[in-house]
Amino acid sequence: MNARNELKEIFFKTKRLISASEEMGLEPPMLPKGALDFMEKPVSKNPALPSKRSGASEKAAPQIPAPETQTITPAAQQFDSLEDLRAHMGDCRRCDLHNGRKHLVFGEGDPKARLVFVGEGPGFDEDREGRPFVGKSGQLLTRIIEKGMGLTRESVYICNVVKCRPPGNRDPNPDEIRVCLPFLKAQLSIIRPDVICALGRVACQALMGGDFKITRHRGEWRTYEGIPLMPTFHPAYLLRNASAKRPVWDDVKSIMGKLGLEVK
Ligand code: SF4
Repeated sequence: MNARNELKEIFFKTKRLISASEEMGLEPPMLPKGALDFMEKPVSKNPALPSKRSGASEKAAPQIPAPETQTITPAAQQFDSLEDLRAHMGDCRRCDLHNGRKHLVFGEGDPKARLVFVGEGPGFDEDREGRPFVGKSGQLLTRIIEKGMGLTRESVYICNVVKCRPPGNRDPNPDEIRVCLPFLKAQLSIIRPDVICALGRVACQALMGGDFKITRHRGEWRTYEGIPLMPTFHPAYLLRNASAKRPVWDDVKSIMGKLGLEVK
């Protein structure tokens, strides 16, 4: 039994003792009024308790998930398949993004894909169709996959960090990412691709940490849970910046090399 549970046990035994004493007409144990009140409060709010991470800054401390998110915890082994995971998500309302969505955009492609593309979230067209990357930037991604890499969309897997469209296509906020990210992680754990291609800053930071700078580090191989990860620009950025096409093509060729595909 850990210290917290021991304290709880003592607390409830003491309460029972007080109740029993009162019921039997005996004097309760001598305890000042309110002496046990602190036990009703969350332990984390008790400043007297030393932190296990006393050397860590408050910023670095792990965030405690909101109660609703504690039910997500999709460790991949919990799910046999992407279908199981999707069924678990149901009509997800775990974050505010469900308010404005038409469709939850789970992801699509080969569940055994060797290559997974991860974007940041659905846009207008994706929300309307319920499919990832079908708007203008999606069409560019499809051209990269089909004309550039010689693959088909169906042979890869495409998904996003958040599964519902942020209003006005804004970036998903940290809370929304924190709540939805376990679903992406579960998808990646189920698929276990040979390569992940993270598209844009939001996807890169979600998978590699908030300080990742896409402009500085795109094109540098990283790993996510042991899987090689290539960070590159989002196709939407390519549509606005023609000069980014060359570096992205370099990244795509690097991915093809990693997958053993012939670069033409
Ligand atoms: S964005 Fe993710 S967590 Fe939020 S409602 Fe949609 S599926 Fe659920």
